[in-house]
Amino acid sequence: MKVLVVGFGWAGFEVALTCRSLSRDLEIIVVSEEPCPAYCRCGLTYAISGEVEFNNLFLRSQDFYKSAGINVLLGYRVVEASSGVARVRPTSSVGSESSMQYDRLVLATGAKPVDPPFEYSGIEGVFKLRDLRDAQAIRRWALRSKSAAIYGSGFLGLQVADALHKLGLKVKLVEPLSSVMPTILDQDVASRIKSIIEGFGVEVYTDAHVREAEGDKQVKRLVGDGFEVDCDMVVLATKVKPRVELAEKLGVKLGVTGGIVVDERMETSVEGVYAAGDCVEVKELVTESPVLAQIASAAIREARVAASNIAGKVDSYPGTTLTALSKVFGVEIGIAGLNSSLSSKLGLDVVPVTVEGPVKGGYYPGKALVKLLADRGTGRVVGVQCLGEGAHLRASLVSQAIAKGFTVKDLAKLELGYHPLLMPVWDPLIEASEKLLEEVKP
Ligand SMILES: Cc1cc2nc3c(=O)[nH]c(=O)nc-3n(C[C@H](O)[C@H](O)[C@H](O)COP(=O)(O)OP(=O)(O)OC[C@H]3O[C@@H](n4cnc5c(N)ncnc54)[C@H](O)[C@@H]3O)c2cc1C
Repeated sequence: MKVLVVGFGWAGFEVALTCRSLSRDLEIIVVSEEPCPAYCRCGLTYAISGEVEFNNLFLRSQDFYKSAGINVLLGYRVVEASSGVARVRPTSSVGSESSMQYDRLVLATGAKPVDPPFEYSGIEGVFKLRDLRDAQAIRRWALRSKSAAIYGSGFLGLQVADALHKLGLKVKLVEPLSSVMPTILDQDVASRIKSIIEGFGVEVYTDAHVREAEGDKQVKRLVGDGFEVDCDMVVLATKVKPRVELAEKLGVKLGVTGGIVVDERMETSVEGVYAAGDCVEVKELVTESPVLAQIASAAIREARVAASNIAGKVDSYPGTTLTALSKVFGVEIGIAGLNSSLSSKLGLDVVPVTVEGPVKGGYYPGKALVKLLADRGTGRVVGVQCLGEGAHLRASLVSQAIAKGFTVKDLAKLELGYHPLLMPVWDPLIEASEKLLEEVKP
């Protein structure tokens, strides 16, 4: 059986490797419009700052794929596919258009940044950040710049800000909404992050509606109503949208989010066509609403499920807990589940509680913040936002609690480890659960 994988990001990579590990008989072909083999997109900002080499981001060598019997076609885009035949076209002047046959097709086409609401065409020094070449271009430009404006303050925007700050640039964070990380964190938690990054000398502009990027040939400033942000470069860290051009041509059903609809086996509405990663719509596990997860941890798991089913081993993807982690300007951020505004959009009545407490034995320095949300009527854990040391662990723990349908009572009863250097007797997460117990009615 011939499996054609479109896209060689995390999802395409995981599909190819899992198919191979489950079956020696499958013929596997991966087509990628990028000119290089799969790499860790999540590491790009660390290569921009110079903390790691771009070359170290590749997930496997070309030789590995050869020896694993995975055929990789780089620098080609799959432009059409139907009834077992796909047309591929080179993305450069080298090579020629051809067609290839498949028995199973996997759409692992990822996502692309949406355009900002201002014009910048014809002005140099304005960059998007999605792939390796974008990151290399940003680093090259940054090395001869003194200041940078980052447009958008989600995880990506903050990570770019951190990277450019580490390179010694004066960084200005420009956010059109009223707080940093506006769709990720509640305002009170976001304001903590804002203070921390301002402490590093980053200028933060919120409610900043940019009208245009100004400059003769090279960008000089972002201009909006009542503000001007001077800069030598701009990095656009806007949200991303699923890449579904090929899916649309195939007649695959798209969902309310604009992502590809898949069943639990990661099969699309067209038989034999699977999809995984940033291009798909999945359900989030608190309300079972359709969402775009757009995180590598979900992409990899979805891909594994798609590959297992293709290889004849029944498997299912239950949905996502929307767990996301980062560390910027020395602070860990961990989230899982829904925040307050998403909860109310989805019709939940939630009770929040915020606890700030020691992360080690009380006689050691170090505090962490936990904002935990539970459903008022049932006490079910809905989401968490964590800052500080150990935020990644707390968010991952709450991710499991959400997946298992825990109430705050279940969470409060969890027995966690204790060591003065590693964890306090009562972790802030447990304290937050106990506090919430007093306010919900499970
Ligand atoms: C800088 C950065 C940092 C990130 N950090 C994190 C993190 O720390 N943790 C986390 O969980 N997530 C992180 N993410 C998000 C994560 O990278 C994505 O969720 C993940 O890469 C999705 O993988 P994917 O394979 O679905 O899509 P992608 O990685 O976007 O790969 C899709 C590939 O398909 C190719 N393609 C598309 N259409 C075609 C076609 N028709 N023919 C051929 N090729 C095609 C694209 O060019 C692309 O190479 C980060 C993202 C960025 C940009």
